Amino acid sequence: MSEVSVTKDPGGPAPAADDLVALAGVNKHFGALHVLQDIDLTIKRGEVVVVIGPSGSGKSTLCRTINRLETIDSGSITIDGKPLPQEGRELARLRADVGMVFQSFNLFAHKTVLENVTLGQLKVRKADKRAAEQKARALLDRVGVGTQADKYPAQLSGGQQQRVAIARALAMDPKVMLFDEPTSALDPEMINEVLEVMQQLARDGMTMVVVTHEMGFARSAANRVVFMADGRIVEEAEPTQFFNNPRSDRAKDFLSKIL
Ligand code: ADP
Ligand code: MG
Repeated sequence: MSEVSVTKDPGGPAPAADDLVALAGVNKHFGALHVLQDIDLTIKRGEVVVVIGPSGSGKSTLCRTINRLETIDSGSITIDGKPLPQEGRELARLRADVGMVFQSFNLFAHKTVLENVTLGQLKVRKADKRAAEQKARALLDRVGVGTQADKYPAQLSGGQQQRVAIARALAMDPKVMLFDEPTSALDPEMINEVLEVMQQLARDGMTMVVVTHEMGFARSAANRVVFMADGRIVEEAEPTQFFNNPRSDRAKDFLSKIL
């Protein structure tokens, strides 16, 4: 497991220099629905945080606010010490820093696998075409779909498509990767091939926020489990502690239903 070392300033504690993502007092409404309520959450460099909770508790909305697919009503979100930009080129760059993998893959259907993985590099990172393709091929190899580069997404299995989606996000050299139920739309036999890629990413030191119902992944890969219910973070704990000794009734109830 590669660890990210953080150099401490001997002159004094550099305030949270290793916080890569920081949400403070974040609130969000959809009309009358208070979907995120006073969310305080920090994610350190190299940390893997698994977010779990009942359907409708705000997990997807939380992910979507972190790369500003949703705006917030109050509070602040910083990525690597910088506030989320509002629009324009800065926002495009922020989105590139925050890789996102969705339940539904969201690959471009009319582009090949290779084009899916080079597009962002060319448009946002202004990479040279040859360099972008070289990098894309290396990433496709890394997630085990190197031989599929010239096919279209529909010609791939769900598990392969999701691994391409991961490669596409990685091609932007993100600082943090968000996964929103990345295996929920997959046939059971394809879940592990995606989880294994995510496990490897975690071991390589990637900072990750993962919304999932895969408790085996949470137990083995997470540094911390965040349990949400009704738009609030109800409980946060190291996985063994959370699964063996949940403190809140909400978490106990949730775990009794899924385990
Ligand atoms: P989760 O991912 O935990 O299932 P979500 O973040 O998707 O929860 O949704 C939280 C709540 O917000 C749900 O009640 C959902 O119906 C509502 N919601 C989500 N997106 C929207 C939207 N764009 N407009 C209105 N309500 C929404
Ligand atoms: Mg969701």
